[in-house]
Amino acid sequence: MPPFKVIIVGGGPAGLITGHCLAKAGIDFEILESLDKHDPNAGASNALWPQSVRVFDQLGLLEEATTLHSPVDYRQSITPEGTPFYKSDVFKQTRELHGHSFMLFHRAELLNLLDRRLPDRASRVHNNKKVTAIETHVNGVKVACVDGSVFEGAMVIGADGANSTVRRLMEEKAAQKPKKEAMKTAYAGLYGSCTRLPGLEDGTFYETHGPKFSIQLGVGRTRAFFIIYHRLDTPTTERHKCSEEEKTALAAEYADSFITPEHRFKDVWDIALWSHMAHIEEGLVEKWYGDRVVLLGDNVHKMMPNAGFGFNSAIISAAALTNGLRRLVLEKGDAEDISNDELTRVFAEYERIRKPDASKFVNVSAAYARAVAWDNVVFRVVDRYIGPYIRMDIILLKGLMSPLVRQGLVLDFLEEKDFREGSVKWKNPRQTLARVREHEDPNAKNSDEQSS
Ligand SMILES: Cc1cc2nc3c(=O)[nH]c(=O)nc-3n(C[C@H](O)[C@H](O)[C@H](O)COP(=O)(O)OP(=O)(O)OC[C@H]3O[C@@H](n4cnc5c(N)ncnc54)[C@H](O)[C@@H]3O)c2cc1C
Repeated sequence: MPPFKVIIVGGGPAGLITGHCLAKAGIDFEILESLDKHDPNAGASNALWPQSVRVFDQLGLLEEATTLHSPVDYRQSITPEGTPFYKSDVFKQTRELHGHSFMLFHRAELLNLLDRRLPDRASRVHNNKKVTAIETHVNGVKVACVDGSVFEGAMVIGADGANSTVRRLMEEKAAQKPKKEAMKTAYAGLYGSCTRLPGLEDGTFYETHGPKFSIQLGVGRTRAFFIIYHRLDTPTTERHKCSEEEKTALAAEYADSFITPEHRFKDVWDIALWSHMAHIEEGLVEKWYGDRVVLLGDNVHKMMPNAGFGFNSAIISAAALTNGLRRLVLEKGDAEDISNDELTRVFAEYERIRKPDASKFVNVSAAYARAVAWDNVVFRVVDRYIGPYIRMDIILLKGLMSPLVRQGLVLDFLEEKDFREGSVKWKNPRQTLARVREHEDPNAKNSDEQSS
């Protein structure tokens, strides 16, 4: 009888982190990724918040991640004319609140780490496999790719991004009308990286706040990462692939905007190593699962990237889903024994746990993006004049973000070696070996709690 095997569609950040979680849980899986390989230049920055750093620690990825990241302590806000109006130690305070740092990466380096370190990567990740169809039968699934290949497993995790094929197939099968309105686009993003410019301050995240736009500039070890968020005239639910002409025109529109007190956007654009323009969808999908299919990552919770919560949300989702699947597999043993109903119960529990949190992150990210882009006159006055005076970002960090961060789930079967806690206690306490054992066998008495 074949062992329980998961087919993950999408080998992006969400698919790969899920692979790591499943590997540690002892659950077999294969990843189908449509791209030939990940471009080592692609993407801008991707930052980890402390709740995700805990999961990286559990997965044994933290040590190497630490060597790749760039520390961030400060956010420097400026006007498009280059006037600095607020310097905040918001990231330093994040570390003081939660123990772990806010870790900034080049997205390609983070993805490369996840890809390279995946156990049995060569046999588990299949590139050039664009999934086009999923067939569900009584004991499992058949997943078909555009090249005619077919992969079989017990279930599918769709981790194929905002414009998800798996979500579309799932909704069509359930005869639900595809809920187009779940993902709306109000902003376009122009993002990329360039070699590090002279004059940038280490540990500083620059943010230009302007009418209907904002620009972020992250300072990495060897590169700087830029993102323009440009508000569209009319929000849309239609998919749109931005052309090279649109990208060039947007770069020209913001060329003279300051991105630090000394640099204009054209200074990074002229030396860009990679850039891309895309519509940034936002939304939360209503139903996260169907028959033997469950969704994870940007395909269910897509948010504005300004606050850096998108991948972080996928990491916590991967932990939640893995915890549930592992319990089921331990109880049932093999694929033949696991019914559709049993999987559905795990999927429903995963959605129940994750949806409220994901919804809050989508909303917080939306509000942040609009406040710094002076979406209306109130945002402008508060952000430009009142916020710096009362240190509103710190108030929001402590009152809004930190309560969400502290709720972050961890894998309930792995210990945390580099556990850290700041002034705010984690909702899910340190995973020690004793706690893991107690979780496996609730009758076992804690004997080695000393490791906490
Ligand atoms: C400029 C920018 C900055 C960001 N900064 C941060 C940050 O600091 N912190 C943070 O947490 N998040 C950040 N995000 C968000 C983060 O990048 C996303 O949340 C994350 O990439 C989502 O991962 P995913 O795997 O769900 O989707 P994707 O990244 O879209 O990956 C999906 C993968 O599936 C593959 N795929 C698609 N269709 C198919 C198919 N049919 N068959 C097989 N494979 C398929 C794709 O090729 C791709 O590799 C940022 C986003 C942007 C745009």
